Amino acid sequence: MSLTTRSAADLAGMLTRREVSAEEVTSAHLDRIAAVDADVHAFLFVDSDRALALARDVDTRRAAGEKLGPLAGVPVGVKDVFTYAGAPTTCGSRILEGWIPPYTSTLVQRLLDAGMIPLGKTHMVNLIATIPGARKDRIVISGHYDTKIFHEFRFVGASDGGSSAAFLLEMARVLKGRKNPLTMELLFLDGEEAVIEWQDNDHTYGSRHYVEAGKRDGSLSTIKANILVDMIGDRDLRIKRDGYSTPWLTDIIWNAARRGKLDTYFVPETTRVEDDHIPFLEAGVPSVDIIDLDRYAEQNAWHTAKDNLDAVSARSLQAVGDVVIAALPQIEAHVSK
Ligand SMILES: [Zn+2]
Repeated sequence: MSLTTRSAADLAGMLTRREVSAEEVTSAHLDRIAAVDADVHAFLFVDSDRALALARDVDTRRAAGEKLGPLAGVPVGVKDVFTYAGAPTTCGSRILEGWIPPYTSTLVQRLLDAGMIPLGKTHMVNLIATIPGARKDRIVISGHYDTKIFHEFRFVGASDGGSSAAFLLEMARVLKGRKNPLTMELLFLDGEEAVIEWQDNDHTYGSRHYVEAGKRDGSLSTIKANILVDMIGDRDLRIKRDGYSTPWLTDIIWNAARRGKLDTYFVPETTRVEDDHIPFLEAGVPSVDIIDLDRYAEQNAWHTAKDNLDAVSARSLQAVGDVVIAALPQIEAHVSK
């Protein structure tokens, strides 16, 4: 097996046992980036010289018998939302093009302290899966798969990031076997969470980028509806109508919930949530956000250590899935008028 296809744990073991040097491991990864990244475009910036210098330093310290961290010498790609002093940071956006941060983020500093070797900065990525339908017009089902970084505690994001990603994966399986009149798109959005604080533009990076790109190439007009899910894993799920969402689309979904006797999950109260649907709404794409923020926050599970597997239930995901599937024929009929 080549060095670039091994897991971090494998590499760490090999390095600790001195079966391979950090310089060899790092060189192998840099060579692989050089060989394929012109096609893959994973890296925005490759920090070859500094990575090799760090790797040699790890090797020297290990040879001297110094006690190193368990991941010392393992290379890592750093997503371009985290600053690393001296490496250009753009958050994948032109607005920050050319900015070279003078400081290193806590996350990268911890990687460095653990002896890891940052190879460079990687793109943020929206993942798009398309299930072709009878028409090119699309219904998008979206959710964010990134998880907020907290340094003070271990944050899992079982409902916040985890539930939407799990939901989209299962929807792909279900929709694949369905006769879809419109093309179905499953959109896994990156960068919903704020890097620091949810203000100004520090949030919804993926959806804003997606909408901008769709406007530029004219493809946005083929999206007839966007169904966004977020934080739908709560054991005690209570989804309020979102006041920003498109009323007809919200009505169809809440009516489907009532018909399916799932209105204990989809309750009639209204709230307002800023989320990945906002850029779509601003661009004129009918959108609904299916989110249980209030109930989760009441239980002190939102953006806390409690947002773990104990707080979520497969039954809640099933309820939302059943409602969305039951609502699809009405949505399809509405947008085909
Ligand atoms: Zn969140």
